[in-house]
Amino acid sequence: MIYDGQALKVTKEADGVATLTLDLAGDSVNKFNSLTLNELAEAVDSLKQEPDVKGLIINSAKDVFVVGADITEFVNWFKLSDEELSDKLRDAHQIFSDISNLPFPTVAAINGIALGGGMELCLACDYRVMAQKAKIGLPETQLGIYPGWGGTVRLPRLIGVDNACEWICGGAQKRSEDALKDGAVDAVVPVEKVVTSARHLIQHVIDGKLDVMARREELRAPMVFSPIEKMMVFESVRGVVGAKAGKHYPAPMAAIKTMEKNVSQTIEKACETEIKGFVKVAKTPVAKSLVNLFLNDQYVKKAAGTFSKGADPVKQAAVLGAGIMGGGVAYQSASKGTPIIMKDIRSEALDLGLSEANKLFGKQVERGRLTNEKSMKALNSIVPALSYGEFEGVDLVVEAVVENVNVKKSVLAETENHIRDDAVLASNTSTISITELSKALKRPENFCGMHFFNPVHRMPLVEVIRGEKSSDEAVAKTVAYAQAMGKTPIVVNDCPGFLVNRVLFPYFAGFSLMMKEGADFQKIDKVMERFGWPMGPAYLIDVVGIDTAYHADQVMADGFPDRMTHDGKNAIDKLFEVERFGQKNEKGFYRYEQDRKGKPKKIYDPEITTLLAETVDAAGTNGELSDEDIIARMMIPLCIETVRCVEEGIVSSPAEADMGLIYGIGFPPYLGGALHYLDQMGLKAFCDLADKYSHLGKLYQPTARMREMADNNETYFQ
Ligand code: NAD
Repeated sequence: MIYDGQALKVTKEADGVATLTLDLAGDSVNKFNSLTLNELAEAVDSLKQEPDVKGLIINSAKDVFVVGADITEFVNWFKLSDEELSDKLRDAHQIFSDISNLPFPTVAAINGIALGGGMELCLACDYRVMAQKAKIGLPETQLGIYPGWGGTVRLPRLIGVDNACEWICGGAQKRSEDALKDGAVDAVVPVEKVVTSARHLIQHVIDGKLDVMARREELRAPMVFSPIEKMMVFESVRGVVGAKAGKHYPAPMAAIKTMEKNVSQTIEKACETEIKGFVKVAKTPVAKSLVNLFLNDQYVKKAAGTFSKGADPVKQAAVLGAGIMGGGVAYQSASKGTPIIMKDIRSEALDLGLSEANKLFGKQVERGRLTNEKSMKALNSIVPALSYGEFEGVDLVVEAVVENVNVKKSVLAETENHIRDDAVLASNTSTISITELSKALKRPENFCGMHFFNPVHRMPLVEVIRGEKSSDEAVAKTVAYAQAMGKTPIVVNDCPGFLVNRVLFPYFAGFSLMMKEGADFQKIDKVMERFGWPMGPAYLIDVVGIDTAYHADQVMADGFPDRMTHDGKNAIDKLFEVERFGQKNEKGFYRYEQDRKGKPKKIYDPEITTLLAETVDAAGTNGELSDEDIIARMMIPLCIETVRCVEEGIVSSPAEADMGLIYGIGFPPYLGGALHYLDQMGLKAFCDLADKYSHLGKLYQPTARMREMADNNETYFQ
């Protein structure tokens, strides 16, 4: 034994080949925490002193290779001064550089996932052998930073500038065949052969068949470009990456800037360039938001795991309604392996639901993600039904019929008579109180909400709503089913709109108020899209459906009459009245036409101005609103309502609240969520801003607790 630590050990065989095995004690994965980094430094020192080493294999005793840096520790790195952070990075660089300078060949035997620092460790080795099913990648830009342990230096030298920019700026986890094609790894083999193949490579070096030192020199040298060539390469990637990342996400462009400088430098200088740029990018508010978001995501997944612990898995599901949502639920369940009965009262609805599912499976086959055989099997696991014939075998039923209390109550009560006593009923209602719906049931304890978002196959969030009488078991089974469907469930308490719609409708109210003053909805959409929303509010309401928004607005007004009612007819009321229901009937705020791919394309409709004119308040501002005004008037009600949901215990943590908004309505991720946004702005500054709009009503008035927190300089996150 050359080195024996808590995170890794190094052994040497009689033939002189040493093996460094990563195996972090007490953890299911290997990650670069300070213990691993310290031990890696000590192990490399021991290897430097060890006589007669002929080669080194770096492998892992776990299913993963290394998942990356330990983000929980990393957060503290970002709080260091520039000098301290640079020193920390320099220490890590030193270890990786020592590995790359060891006087014998080094091979990474990548058995499983190798990300971030894990991949940078592999890059410091002379060769990389990768298991067929492993994945490698540098996902740092998704956290608002870029690779900081040599990734921007070694990857372009290994696979070329174009490829390296694509790997680093895209941040994707690459499959073995792509890694081999791009030259990031030297061989791809079945997982059980990774170590033997690594040994063969070392033997080739020992036998003189491979000149490892020449390869090292080549990869260490500055890359050679003519000035025009260099400019052309970087200009073109800058164009592509800049357009894709957008102005709110500076890390990919910062990575390109760093690579543009460091590819022509000596390896030592290049590492310094990387460190300098990294320190800058790590200190941006975006990096803080995205790292916080990553931690919140982990928190939310862990919380869901706690809820579903011990729950009986759903082996057979059913969905009532084969409409937009019911069809989506059936597809998602079947595609993730839970067979599902799809019941409707109209056979045309069943045909449509099945043909939509068929289309989605077809796309998966086209993209090579599913074989024909598997797609047929999954499609066949959706069983259409017009009666309750097979419901005795069902473990959980999702109700997704029309949004009407009376219809829902009668359908739920009827269903309860056809399912087992232990089966769970879950409603996909967007707004109606779960406690209210449960009044129609004999077993209200077996009932809760399971609120999916549209389109079901794309939107990651599922709100699981606990009614007054919902049992822990019913909630647990529903959470477990959402997880089995590949979704991120968040458990919330019952109230009109639950978490997401309760927060979304005050945001829409902000929009309606500006419309009443004669504002231009196209301008509002543009401003909010530039601010980072995937679509502006008018467009979003069109997608949700004007009718849906209209009905939901009434539910919200009944639930929160102190702040969610409005006087007179607003724009949504008017469009509802003239049956402009949005995208679904091709007319809402915008008009919709199909593009060449058959997707709805929005177009300005001149008729709208006359239509909306009668909803404009004569005392309005005639639409003279600055961009800052628009942002403030949209964001303030949304943020305050999110706070109310936390203060009232509708959602149990700021992390769940923020992730709910990001996963449910596409809240701009670079802001980290509504509460993180408040933290970054500072509650005092936010309350001051809100006070300027306080005349607009209670939606614009911060809660007493917010003011108290502002006075005490408190934050929602650390
Ligand atoms: P939809 O109109 O597309 O589909 C409703 C389906 O229910 C229809 O096919 C109808 O035939 C069927 N149905 C009616 N009575 C039935 C019964 N007794 N038994 C079985 N089927 C019956 O509606 P949708 O948009 O899919 O919405 C369904 C539910 O999901 C609503 O509660 C809605 O609020 C909620 N929801 C909708 C969205 C969305 O964006 N559309 C998002 C989240 C939640």
